[in-house]
Amino acid sequence: MTIASKAKRERKQVSREARQLRSYDQRWIWHPFTQMSEWVESDPLIIESGKGCYLKDVQGRRYLDGVSSLWCNVHGHRVKKLDEAVKKQLGRIAHSTFLGLSNVPAVKLAKKLIEITPRGLNRVFYSDSGSEAVEVALKMAYQYWQHRGERERTKFIRLTNAYHGDTIGSVSVGGISLFHDVYRPLLFKTFEAPAPYRYRDQFEGSEAEYAGYCAQKLEAVIRKYHRQTCALIMEPIMQGAAGMMNQPDGYISRARALTKKYNILLIFDEAATGFGRTGRMFASDHESVTPDILCLAKGLSAGYLPLAATVVIEEIYNEFVGRYDELKTFFHGHTYTANPLACAVALANLELFTENRTLERLIPKIDFLRGGLERFQKLGHVGDIRQVGFMVGIELVRDRARKTPYEVEEKIGIHVIEEARRRGVIIRPLGNVIVLMPPLAIEIRELKRLLDVVYQSIRAVTEK
Ligand SMILES: *Cc1c(COP(=O)(O)O)cnc(C)c1O
Repeated sequence: MTIASKAKRERKQVSREARQLRSYDQRWIWHPFTQMSEWVESDPLIIESGKGCYLKDVQGRRYLDGVSSLWCNVHGHRVKKLDEAVKKQLGRIAHSTFLGLSNVPAVKLAKKLIEITPRGLNRVFYSDSGSEAVEVALKMAYQYWQHRGERERTKFIRLTNAYHGDTIGSVSVGGISLFHDVYRPLLFKTFEAPAPYRYRDQFEGSEAEYAGYCAQKLEAVIRKYHRQTCALIMEPIMQGAAGMMNQPDGYISRARALTKKYNILLIFDEAATGFGRTGRMFASDHESVTPDILCLAKGLSAGYLPLAATVVIEEIYNEFVGRYDELKTFFHGHTYTANPLACAVALANLELFTENRTLERLIPKIDFLRGGLERFQKLGHVGDIRQVGFMVGIELVRDRARKTPYEVEEKIGIHVIEEARRRGVIIRPLGNVIVLMPPLAIEIRELKRLLDVVYQSIRAVTEK
C-alpha cells in the first residue's frame, strides 16, 4: 500500500469514529447549560487532545482556546511540569479520604495558599468546584453567627446579576434571571444590592465619584438589613458571568469598610478572578483588601482537575473550635475533598507562576490586548468594551446611540462564536457579551490571531 492510500484509509477511519462518537454523544449525553434540541441538530465538536493554547478535535481540526476551557486554564494544555506532577502523584496514590485522614499534596498546597492569599486568611477548607467553595462559605458564615448567639442573622446580601455557581445555595445568592428565576421557590431569601454597571448607569462624573455613588447604593442596602445579615458576598473587581462587569477603583475597599462598619462578614468569590486573571494573583490584591472568606476554584488547579478552596480568617475558624459535644464541628465534606492528584497539580501550578514569572510576563500581554481592542470601538454594534487584565467582555447592541440590546432570540452572541469557530477559534458568549479569556500563557502572536478572528466574526454577524 502506498503512503498516500494509507493516509487516506486512516482519514476515513478517523471520520468514521468521529461520526460514531457524535452519534453516541447526541444519543446519550445531556450537556450543561445547553439546549439539547439544538445540540442534537448541530455538529458537535468533540475534543480529543490539546497542546499549549490549542485544542484538537476528533477530526484533527485545531482551535485556539479563547476562553481557557471555561476560564480555568492558566499555563496552557499538556504542560510538562503539570503533567509530571499528576503522573508522579499517580505513582503514589490517586485518592484517599480527607475525612479523618490527611494527604501530602493537600498539606503542602494549604501552606502555599496561606502564603499567597491576602494577609489574615489562614485556614483552608477544600472542595471540588466553585459552587461548592461558595456553598461552604455560606454555611460557614451562617454558622459563625449561630455559634456567636446571633441567631437572627440568617440572610445574605448579594449584587445584581451575581453568579456564584449552580448548587441550590449558590443559586440562592445568584441574580441572573435567565438561569435562576425558575428555582426561586426553592431558594433562601437574599437582599440585592445594585452592582456597578457604568455603561448603563446614567452617571456623569469621574471614576472616583462613580465608586462613591456605587458604594452609597451598597450602603443603603447594608444599613437597612445588616442586623439580619450574615455576610455580603460578591465577586471583587469584575463580575464574570454577569457579563464581565467591572467595578470602579475603590469599590472593593469601600465594600470592605462598609462590612466592617455594619459588622457583617465579607465573602469574596474569586472563582473566576483568582490566579492571575485580573493581572494580580487575586483581584483582592488590587486594593490590598482581605475578605473574611475567600472562595477559590477554576485556575487553582491550572485547568487540570476539579479543585476548590474556601480560605478563612482565624476568627471564623475559632468559632467552630470546641469540645465535640458542643456540636460546633463543621459537618461538611465531599468524597473527593482534597483529592491528592488535584492538589499535586495545583501545587505545581503555583510553582510555575514563580518559575515562568507568569504575572510579570502578563503585563505586556494585557497592554497588547487593550491596544488590540481599540479598533473594536469603531464597529457599529459594539456598545461597550470592558477589560480587567485577561478578562474581557465586548457588549454588542442593536443600536449604539440608544444602547438598545439585541433580543435574546436573535442569539447574537451564539452567531458570533459560530463564526469564530469556523475561523478556528473557540470562544463562548454571555448573552450579548462576547467573552475573551485566553490562558495566561498565550503568546502575543496567538493573542493577535484571537483578536483578529473575533473582530472579523463580530463584523460578519452584525454588519451583514
Ligand atoms: C465559575 C464560577 C463559579 C462556579 O464554579 P464551578 O466550578 O463551575 O462550580 C462560582 N463563582 C464564580 C465567580 C464563577 O466564575
